[in-house]
Amino acid sequence: MNTLLLSLLLAVTAQAPADLLIRGGTVVTMDGEHRVLEGGTVVIHGARIESVLGATEPLPDAAQTIDATGHLVIPGLINAHGHAAMTLLRGIADDLALLEWLESYIFPAEAKNVAPDFVYWGSLLGCVEMAKSGTTTYADMYYFEEEVARATETVGIRGVLGQSVIGFPAPDYETPEEALVGAEAFIEKYKNHPLIIPSIAPHALYTTPLDIIEKAHAIARKHGVPFQIHAVEPPQENDQMMERLGKRTIPALDDAGILTPGVILHHAIWLSDEDITRIAGSGASTSHNPQSNMKTASGLARVPELLAAGIPVGLGTDGPASNNNLDMFEEMDTAAKLHKLVREDPTAMPATTVFHMATIGGAQALGIDDRVGSLEAGKLADIVLIDVRAPELTPLYDVYSHLVYAIKGGHVATVVVGGKLVVRDGDILGVDENDLMERANEIKAQILRSLETP
Ligand SMILES: [Zn+2]
Repeated sequence: MNTLLLSLLLAVTAQAPADLLIRGGTVVTMDGEHRVLEGGTVVIHGARIESVLGATEPLPDAAQTIDATGHLVIPGLINAHGHAAMTLLRGIADDLALLEWLESYIFPAEAKNVAPDFVYWGSLLGCVEMAKSGTTTYADMYYFEEEVARATETVGIRGVLGQSVIGFPAPDYETPEEALVGAEAFIEKYKNHPLIIPSIAPHALYTTPLDIIEKAHAIARKHGVPFQIHAVEPPQENDQMMERLGKRTIPALDDAGILTPGVILHHAIWLSDEDITRIAGSGASTSHNPQSNMKTASGLARVPELLAAGIPVGLGTDGPASNNNLDMFEEMDTAAKLHKLVREDPTAMPATTVFHMATIGGAQALGIDDRVGSLEAGKLADIVLIDVRAPELTPLYDVYSHLVYAIKGGHVATVVVGGKLVVRDGDILGVDENDLMERANEIKAQILRSLETP
């Protein structure tokens, strides 16, 4: 090819119009310098962000432009832990301790009702709720995880989806060995999917034998996918493990070689200083789920110590049956205030720290910060617009203060995932909400009937 033709081609490529511009808003980038650009523009090409421009920089042509005047433009929120399908069990039993809630209510209701249809419709409800409240990536652990993947794709958000492995007969697999085989098949099927990041998720050390957890970990390492587990959530867990294994949970997992990069320990509440040192040296991360753990009175994770030790911590809602919603704005507000109250220190957990956990910190905790979590050139275009032209949000002094303490999920106007519109002016696209609610009510009737018979 001659040089004239080459330079002509390069010039044409440079001027190729963008697919989408989001212009005129206050862009909260969460990049390495935490830049906030007034009147900035996010330029999107295909699924990715091509550039983030300041107010005075020239804009390229684009096929579509969204006027973000009067809006905050933020990275899509990352919900680091949950069980989306449990929307169908929201409110079925409340005001109980975690183990009683699980063993007397949730596990029996799940045993009688969890089937592919239940998981699909429940996850669809959860994905719609998350998308409309600004979550663009969520981590999940449940049964029939392929159905969760199908619901996630229908809504068009991103999921780090963990097929459950548990030490008793589950709705999808009779034995944990079968669940391991199923989980590996799930990982292979979704390995190169544009929206789904497959994962394997042994439930917890108190419900699943250690050798099964080791095998699940080996599968995660083999395929380079995230490994999720509930760790030291109930207050009794360390004592139970001392009795059963002669070790607390974290040393038991660490000594078995399970604490490695790519491992996320959900909740991680009852940690000693030594446990924190072990996690910090391992490359594993944790998720913080304050509202769920307040509701079941399970305890408060030592998040300031975890962060000080350099451990990535994501923020999660946990399942909607123990929260009882999937609004990450509420979760941020609670996370910021709870540590202040308990420590009697209003400087504990500043708003910037909490917003970091809900965006780039959550991406780091899930090992996907190369792709999502901030608005930067080359990252996937997962972007949320929040309309701040409301009396309760006027005036605005500090974007992080508003994002953590004043804004709620209902203020989310528009959501873009991988360059595609998922929510526009508060409305979900591509899902019939009335049909969805009708299905949910039918399943509720089914669940109630199932609980009448022993
Ligand atoms: Zn959970």
